[in-house]
Amino acid sequence: MAGIYVHFPFCASRCIYCDFYSRVRSDWTAYVEALVKELSANGDFFKGVSPATLYFGGGTPSLLPVCELKKVADAAREIFGVAEFEEFTLEANPDDVTPSSAGEWRKMGVTRVSMGVQSFDDSHLKWMNRRHTSAQVSEAVEALRSAGIKNVSIDLIFGFTGLSDGQWDDNISKALSLAPEHISCYQMTGRYSHPSEELCFSQYAHLQDRLAEAGYRQYEVSNYCLEGYESRHNSGYWNRSAYLGVGAAAHSFDGDRLRRWNLADIDKYEGGAAPIEESLTDEECIEEILMLGLRTASGVDLNLIPADYREKMKPALDHMIRTGSILKSDSRIRIPSGKLFISDWIVGQLIV
Ligand code: SF4
Repeated sequence: MAGIYVHFPFCASRCIYCDFYSRVRSDWTAYVEALVKELSANGDFFKGVSPATLYFGGGTPSLLPVCELKKVADAAREIFGVAEFEEFTLEANPDDVTPSSAGEWRKMGVTRVSMGVQSFDDSHLKWMNRRHTSAQVSEAVEALRSAGIKNVSIDLIFGFTGLSDGQWDDNISKALSLAPEHISCYQMTGRYSHPSEELCFSQYAHLQDRLAEAGYRQYEVSNYCLEGYESRHNSGYWNRSAYLGVGAAAHSFDGDRLRRWNLADIDKYEGGAAPIEESLTDEECIEEILMLGLRTASGVDLNLIPADYREKMKPALDHMIRTGSILKSDSRIRIPSGKLFISDWIVGQLIV
C-alpha cells in the first residue's frame, strides 16, 4: 500500500532521549511552501498508483497552525488525485490536543492521531523534558473522541534508568484504561537506557502479556492494536511498498530498489538542496526483505528470497528453526512472540 510521509521538524522543546531530526523553531511558512513544492515535483512518483495513506510526522506537526497543515494536506490530495486518504495520521503532543484543534484536524481529513505519551508518571515526564502531564493525556483522548477521531494510538517508552517494574505496570494499566486502538512501545536507547538487558527484556515481556490479555494483537516488534487497527502506513514500510517522503530528513522508496533521502537540515531543504539517492543491490534488497519482514507477526514468504540466497542461509535458518527462534509454516517464516525482543540478532544470523 503506497503512502506519503511528510516530516515537520519543529518542536517547542527537545526531549532528552530523542534522535529524530527537529529544531526548536516556529517560523514554518517557508518550510510549508517547500513541502508543497516538493510534493508537486513528485506528482509522478507512484507511476499511476494512488497513495492510500498520508502521515504527518515529526518533530511535532500538532504544533503548526491548522491552516499550514491544511496547505500540505490539500496539495497532497490535489497532486495525487486522492479525494480522501484511507488513513491520514497526525502525530501530536498531548498538550496540543484541545477540543478545537482536534475538531479542525478531523475537518482537515485526519482519521488517526498518534500521541507521544511515553509515560503516565509526571516525574518521569518532567525528567524527559516532555511538555505534557499525565492528566493532559486523558483530556486529549477525550477531545479526540469527541471530535470523531476513532483511531488513536499512544506511544510509551520502557527500559530506562529509574523506571521500576511497578511503575511500568502502572503505565500499562493507565494506557489500557484509555482504550486506545493502537499502542506503540519503544525501548529507551542511548545514555538513558537501563544497563540490564534482563530487566529490559522482562519489561518487554510483561507488556506483551498485559496487552495480549487486554485483546491487543502484537503485529510488529514495537506495535500492538485492536483487531483491524494496524497502522496501514507503517505496515507499508515493513512490506516494502512505495512511499514518498517529503521534508528535511525524509526518506522515500520506490517499492523496488531506489532509496532517496533529504538532508537533515531545514535551511538547506528550504533552499532546494537535492536529495541523496541510492540504488540497492540484489543482496541489499534481500537483506531488507528479511530485516523488515521478520519484524512483523506475519513474517516473510521465503519465495521472495532467490534460491541461491536461500541455499546460503539454509544452515543458519535450519538451526534457528531447530532452536525455536524461527517458526516455519509452508513457505513462511516468522519469529515467535517470545523471541521478538532479540529479532535483530536473529535476523543477523540469517544474513550471509
Ligand atoms: S517532541 Fe517528539 S520529536 Fe520533539 S524532541 Fe520530543 S520526542 Fe523528539
